Amino acid sequence: MKHRQELITTNNTPGNYKVYRSVQELVDDSLCPKDPERYQHRMECLERKCNLCGIQKIGRMPEEIESVNGSPQVSWERFEYVNTTVKGKTFRKLMLVKKCTPLYELFTYMLHLLSTYVAHRFRSTWQHSQLKKLLNSLPQQDCVCIHDFAENYQ
Ligand SMILES: [Zn+2]
Repeated sequence: MKHRQELITTNNTPGNYKVYRSVQELVDDSLCPKDPERYQHRMECLERKCNLCGIQKIGRMPEEIESVNGSPQVSWERFEYVNTTVKGKTFRKLMLVKKCTPLYELFTYMLHLLSTYVAHRFRSTWQHSQLKKLLNSLPQQDCVCIHDFAENYQ
């Protein structure tokens, strides 16, 4: 959003594109409004099966769609699998990798993540609230086991 704000200032196009202040704002703008009776987004929207919403609802500036003349280069980081060799044995490891690309590559990657992030976030919030409810009504002498495996857990 820092780069978007700079482009808006440079191109003198205030009001045409929203400068998001949080991921929540970005997520909400990519979905249909919440169901007023259930106070949450519809599952169809969260799973990106709705024809009325999706990442295409996020307005993109020309510099965020493709490389245009004067398109800024930006520095950013993303997690990637990298092959690492330790004691002659090669394995894949998830690492934070530095990037320096035209702005549109960062924006395209961010929207790609946003397409599946909303369902992931919903499941995480749902599981957390269900655990809380379960713990609040757990009978005496009962216990709760949580199996939460990190990626590539061996
Ligand atoms: Zn929708």
